[in-house]
Amino acid sequence: MEQQLKELRQHAAEELLHVATVDKLNELRVKYLGKKGSLTSVLRGLGSLTPEERPRVGQVVNEIRTELEQLIDLKNNELKQAELSLRLASEKIDVTLPGRKENLGHKHPLTITLDRIKSIFMQLGFEIAEGPEVEKDYYNFEALNLPKDHPARDMQDSFYITDEILLRTHTSPVQVRTMQNAKPNQPIRIIAPGKVYRRDYDATHSPMFHQVEGLVIGKGISFADLKGTLELFIHQMFGDNVGVRFRPSFFPFTEPSAEVDISCVMCSGKGCRVCKGTGWLEILGSGMVHPRVLEMSNYDPSQVSGFAFGMGVERIAMLIYGIDDLRLFYDNDLRFLRQF
Ligand SMILES: [Zn+2]
Repeated sequence: MEQQLKELRQHAAEELLHVATVDKLNELRVKYLGKKGSLTSVLRGLGSLTPEERPRVGQVVNEIRTELEQLIDLKNNELKQAELSLRLASEKIDVTLPGRKENLGHKHPLTITLDRIKSIFMQLGFEIAEGPEVEKDYYNFEALNLPKDHPARDMQDSFYITDEILLRTHTSPVQVRTMQNAKPNQPIRIIAPGKVYRRDYDATHSPMFHQVEGLVIGKGISFADLKGTLELFIHQMFGDNVGVRFRPSFFPFTEPSAEVDISCVMCSGKGCRVCKGTGWLEILGSGMVHPRVLEMSNYDPSQVSGFAFGMGVERIAMLIYGIDDLRLFYDNDLRFLRQF
């Protein structure tokens, strides 16, 4: 039996020497010292020895157990240390490498333009009003004095969803909704910015574009208020030196109506390709709210009056930045967008 123990000790020591991982080491621990391990089975055999032999062999077994446990602990530390250094080496951070640059975006030129328009009108005490882009025919046309057979409806080629529902062709329905939600003859001072939709697509038209609509209603509001407000807006937007001209026009929802032109920002009014040689650029439509429109939205034209205006945000952005093709706004080409 002593010979058997000697061999076992020899064998275990050799195996331990060649162990390379902590997992393998644990397997060896079980193999020799576990409940069903080799050493334990030797201990079980003690019963077959004479009473004189038993204590001596028992002592040898305990010595071997202690020795093996020490060897395993030692090896365990050694392996863990090795694994740690390996991990440290692989996770090493080179602090001298240059950092990764964060690519910060910025606002789209149309948003920049819209923000400027909003801020000018907000300084004049206007509130921002919003409405649905999918609109009822009633709000988009009828309540704006454009009955079903009205010729002006042909001017706006529309995206209809059903006979009664369409994508709004202008932001004017927001005016109607605001008036109809107001108390009787309640004063109003709003702008309504938003997306609108028409069936157009070329260098100056897109099927989706942005408008800003304005509406002021109150006692004694006159054409002078309209002129003063729009002139102030134009000078803040395009500079004090820009000329402003009001030209008689027709819109079904205003009477009288006026187109508003500014002196050409490209040629300072001398005449060029952009202004088609006239020296003037049309930038918005305006007028005194038609009495019929007031009535339809429960306002009394004998008590209050008002003015309204509407402009295309793309058109204004094109003039401010000198852009000659509207489609560039929607191409998402970074070479274009990074210039703003
Ligand atoms: Zn010009």
